[in-house]
Amino acid sequence: MQALVHSATKMRIMQIYRDSVADGLGLRTVIFFAGCGQDPKCPLCQNPEAWSAGAGKELPMDTLICLATATKNNEITFSGGDPLTFQFPYALEAARILKTRFHKNIWLYTGYRWEFIRKSAILSQILPYIDVLVDGRFVNRLRDISLKFRGSSNQRIIDVPASLKENRVIDLTDQIE
Ligand code: SF4
Repeated sequence: MQALVHSATKMRIMQIYRDSVADGLGLRTVIFFAGCGQDPKCPLCQNPEAWSAGAGKELPMDTLICLATATKNNEITFSGGDPLTFQFPYALEAARILKTRFHKNIWLYTGYRWEFIRKSAILSQILPYIDVLVDGRFVNRLRDISLKFRGSSNQRIIDVPASLKENRVIDLTDQIE
């Protein structure tokens, strides 16, 4: 399988949601990137309106960064759609700015698995800017509403800096549950 990265000409965002406590530890501003390139889509996906690459609204990068950092104490979560597909170049740039200039803690949700991202020369470029990756597709038969920060039990909550350092998956899921 090859990473599906389309270079959309403009960044498109579904929504920026402030003060979430459901999309990672602490109080977070969630950026919902438009478009999901996963094929097939996850059956019973909760967010089908975000599938199209043309969904949402165009947003310049500086506006996104202003909106994402307006609530100074909030950390950041990237969600979607799937931020690692149609909007990947913009997600990469936003992650770089939010980490290097604003020192934000960043969680990222994607349908790709860690092993796939790690092997991809393109997708792995975002990993140095991400703190926690929630990986894998949503699988409805593994859905469990008691799970924290994930929809189905196949998804893992991965410590990205530690995993990069040790070159193996450091899975935080059990610690966080
Ligand atoms: S990766 Fe996310 S947005 Fe895409 S189909 Fe699966 S659950 Fe839905």
